[in-house]
Amino acid sequence: MINFNVPPYVETSLEYIQECVKNQKICGDGAYTHKCSQWIEERTGTTKCLLTTSCTHATELAALLSDIRPGDEVIMPAYTFVSTADAFVLRGAVPVFVDIRPDTMNIDENQIEAAITEKTRAIVPVHYAGVACEMDTIMDIARRHGLVVIEDAAQGILSYYKGKALGTIGNFGCFSFHETKNYSMGEGGALLIRDEKDVEEAEIIREKGTNRSKYYRGQIDKYTWINYGSSYLPSDMNAAYLYAQLEIADQINNARLEIWDRYRENLTPLAEAGKILLPTVPEGCVHNAHMFYIKAKDIEERTAFIDHMKENGILSVFHYIPLHTAPAGQKFGRFHGEDRYTTSESERLARLPMYYGLDLGTVDYICEAVKKFYR
Ligand SMILES: *Cc1c(COP(=O)(O)O)cnc(C)c1O
Repeated sequence: MINFNVPPYVETSLEYIQECVKNQKICGDGAYTHKCSQWIEERTGTTKCLLTTSCTHATELAALLSDIRPGDEVIMPAYTFVSTADAFVLRGAVPVFVDIRPDTMNIDENQIEAAITEKTRAIVPVHYAGVACEMDTIMDIARRHGLVVIEDAAQGILSYYKGKALGTIGNFGCFSFHETKNYSMGEGGALLIRDEKDVEEAEIIREKGTNRSKYYRGQIDKYTWINYGSSYLPSDMNAAYLYAQLEIADQINNARLEIWDRYRENLTPLAEAGKILLPTVPEGCVHNAHMFYIKAKDIEERTAFIDHMKENGILSVFHYIPLHTAPAGQKFGRFHGEDRYTTSESERLARLPMYYGLDLGTVDYICEAVKKFYR
């Protein structure tokens, strides 16, 4: 069976983890955590990067830093992973879902303004498949209405919008290093902070409400409990595993892009014949080949397609039951405006295998199986 996702295998990660064990330094904020954060700050240009235990937790941190309170409304797409909404629901806020654009599957920037009420506090764009949302429009709306922007850039590391790294444009950006993402630490993530004014509070909340980060830097003699907080820092062993991948990030990124381009090249004739739709990358967006998907005619065709691929030894998957149709989404949130594309487009989408190490011959084989289905 050709797997759908395989985490990157990088030899040096074993060496780095071993070093943590030998040095008996495995708790949070050790040498590798520092290396990873520094790498992310340098590559993205963000003011501050804090490594976290997941992207979900990075988003929770962002919700706390944005002072999201019960009854506040947060605008987001319904076509996303549950964490996007969870982080705000946990604060008692109401996710207000708006429709997506069919070309990128991202939030439709033109539907956002109509969903704003007196209670709206934040907009959460999700950069689906590492392809940027229309951030100029979103930032302009946020500025005019005094809203916070928290980018769910879980899939968007090393993707760009008009030259700016995803995750660095809004007040906060959240990365995921879950096993299924381009770079992994098993479970993990990062919070990117744009404004210097938010850094100190973020460090405190991440460290159980204490000023321990300042203590570690030698800025104070003793650390103490000064605010509410939680424990959002990952073990340095996980960071060591991640750092080995970050060191060869360009190699991983280029290999993924090569696979993505190969899929596209192979499947373009099918798209031109009107059988399937392929992903769109708008002008000004540089993507990171996080995923490759096709869109079938409808849910029946997609089901048959996934079955056909499985018969050919290939795992193709779909994801995201739109959140407003899920039990929790109905309980905690609401959809504003018309669901013109969210449900119908999500039912058409099927993802193809995509991972570092997938060889181009296998990609060709997968494409042949796709073509066979449409013959
Ligand atoms: C993976 C993902 C998350 C959650 O990431 P974790 O690190 O597993 O918490 C959130 N949002 C989106 C869009 C994702 O793809």
